[in-house]
Amino acid sequence: MEKRLFLDLSYEELAEELKALGEPAYRTQQVWEWVWRKLCPDFSAMTNLPLSLREELSRRFSLDPFTVLAKECDEEGTEKVLLSLPDGASVEAVLIREEDRNTVCISTQVGCPVGCSFCATGQMGFVRNLTAGEIAGQVLYFAKVLEAQGKRVTHVVVMGMGEPFLNYEATLKALNNLNDKRGFNLGARRITVSTIGVVPAILRFAQEEKQYNLAISLHAPEDELRRKLVPLAERWPISQVLSAAEAYILATGRRVTFEYVLLCGVNDALKHARALAALLRGKLVHVNLIPFNPAPGLPFFPPDEGQIELFRRELLAHGIDVTVRRSRGIKIQAGCGQLRSRVFREK
Ligand code: SAH
Ligand code: SF4
Repeated sequence: MEKRLFLDLSYEELAEELKALGEPAYRTQQVWEWVWRKLCPDFSAMTNLPLSLREELSRRFSLDPFTVLAKECDEEGTEKVLLSLPDGASVEAVLIREEDRNTVCISTQVGCPVGCSFCATGQMGFVRNLTAGEIAGQVLYFAKVLEAQGKRVTHVVVMGMGEPFLNYEATLKALNNLNDKRGFNLGARRITVSTIGVVPAILRFAQEEKQYNLAISLHAPEDELRRKLVPLAERWPISQVLSAAEAYILATGRRVTFEYVLLCGVNDALKHARALAALLRGKLVHVNLIPFNPAPGLPFFPPDEGQIELFRRELLAHGIDVTVRRSRGIKIQAGCGQLRSRVFREK
């Protein structure tokens, strides 16, 4: 019998499994705690469970889906891993250590079907969706690394490889499991999902019971330019993406972040900043400017520091709340899809 990934189960599904094995109801909480709170790597070490149950769980389930294929760290403590899965697929996850927070950036797909022209993941094509357990497992991987140092994961951003809203069910299940108070207990406000703008999924996300943060990758203030950078923009024009963002703000009362990758000579002129400000003025939003992170084969350059600052000030002057997100880990190429691209090129 092929083993299933334990992390794919919700609490309720685990309860069903244990009931079918004839176990009393309180076992669910015990097993859930071992895995999601104590980060126990092995069923045999779950000492308050009967031996026979530990053996049965080991026969049926695996706890860790990953083999580490490559690992890179920089001097600031950013750590990036390439994790391989039993079918040979591999994905990246990144831990960003800052003074008061430890953020894990996770992937939701192997490759990405959207194919944005500035994105290393987009250029590798699409292989498959990750399961809920494979998504949450990336967080648990780093939770174990941090635990050994007496630390915890404080934030999760779904900004790694893939488009989470083209793998909606698995992504939400993973986040709900991480959020579950009976186990990992990471607050919804500490979790952010970034989407390229899959409009029906944004509308659905607005209605979720758990209110996770939403970031939308805009990258251009008008449709013609956006379509050149983001092929999926053919399907959902900027006006629809903005209406969906409004629906999220209305339903949740929460601010939406708009991400904007700055590409030298493409979308970084002051007229772009003014057009962007005109789109967003008066809304409960924040803009994250991300200077392009170069990778081999991508035909773009980041703007120089002076231009980035001018763009930022232009937005500010038009009343838009804005920050420049410096890509941590540029030295280790901790940008989306970049470690994987390099490892596979070297082979
Ligand atoms: N698919 C989702 C989430 C993953 S990408 C999305 O696109 O939003 C997360 C962020 O990294 C996006 O804002 C994306 O535009 C940005 N990104 C991708 N490639 C980049 C690069 N080479 N340099 C800088 N940012 C990049
Ligand atoms: Fe996919 Fe996001 Fe990369 Fe676009 S930027 S190709 S949506 S991962």
